[in-house]
Amino acid sequence: MAGGRVRGDVKIQYRAVLALATVLLLTALSARAQFFMPPQTKPKPLVILDPGHGGADLGARTSKNYVEKDFTLRLARAVKDRLEQDGAADALLTRETDRELSPLARLEFVNARKAGMFISLHADGGAKLRSHPLKIFIHKPEPANAAPPPGPWDRQGDPYAPESGKLAATMAPRLESAAGRKVEIAATSLMGLGGAGMPAALVEAADFSNPEDAIRVEDDAYLAKLADAVAGAVMEYLRVKGARNP
Ligand SMILES: [Zn+2]
Repeated sequence: MAGGRVRGDVKIQYRAVLALATVLLLTALSARAQFFMPPQTKPKPLVILDPGHGGADLGARTSKNYVEKDFTLRLARAVKDRLEQDGAADALLTRETDRELSPLARLEFVNARKAGMFISLHADGGAKLRSHPLKIFIHKPEPANAAPPPGPWDRQGDPYAPESGKLAATMAPRLESAAGRKVEIAATSLMGLGGAGMPAALVEAADFSNPEDAIRVEDDAYLAKLADAVAGAVMEYLRVKGARNP
C-alpha cells in the first residue's frame, strides 16, 4: 500500500535521525569526559629516606665533636630536595627533626606508607683513626631452613633482596667517585633491612674515623656531592627499573 510505504519511509528517516543524534550525543559526551579526565599518569614512586640516629642517640662522633645524627639529617634533606627537583620520585623522611626513633618505628613508618624504596643514611665510626672502604648494606635473607629470624624486622626469603642488590650496585660507583674511596656492598641480616617490604639499603656515606672525612663532613659543598651520588643512584635505578617494567 502506497500510504503504508510513506509511513514506513518516515519511520526509517525518523530512526536514522535518532541514530545520528545518539551518535552525536555520545561523541560530545566522550569528548567532554576526555576534557575533564586528567591525563593517565603512573603515580610517582615514594622513596623514604631515613636519617640514622637522632635525639639522645648521637651516633658516631668525629674528632671535632660533630655527630652522626646531624650529618644524616642534613644528607637526607639534601637527597630529598634533589629527588623532588628531578620529579622522578616523591620523598619522605622518617624524621624531619632531631628526635629519637626506634628501629621498629622506622620500619613501621615505611611499611605503613607502602613506599617503593627505603634508604637509611648513616656514617661509620670508631675511636681509632683509619682509612677503609665506605659501605652499603643490604639485607641477606636467611635460608628457609634456618632458625627463626631474631626479630619482627627480619625475615626469611626476602623477595626484595635482588632489587636491593641492584640499587646498591647502582649507588656504589657514584659514591666511590664522590668520596674518592672504595665502597663495598655487604649483605647482612643484622641491620633490620629485611623488615622493609621494598628494596632497601643502609648507606654509610662517610667514615667519622677517617681524618679526611672528619673535616669534610661538615662542609656543605662536600655534603652536596654525597647527596648528588645518592639521589643520582636512586633516579638511575628507577629509570632502569621503569624500562624493565614499563
Ligand atoms: Zn649510624
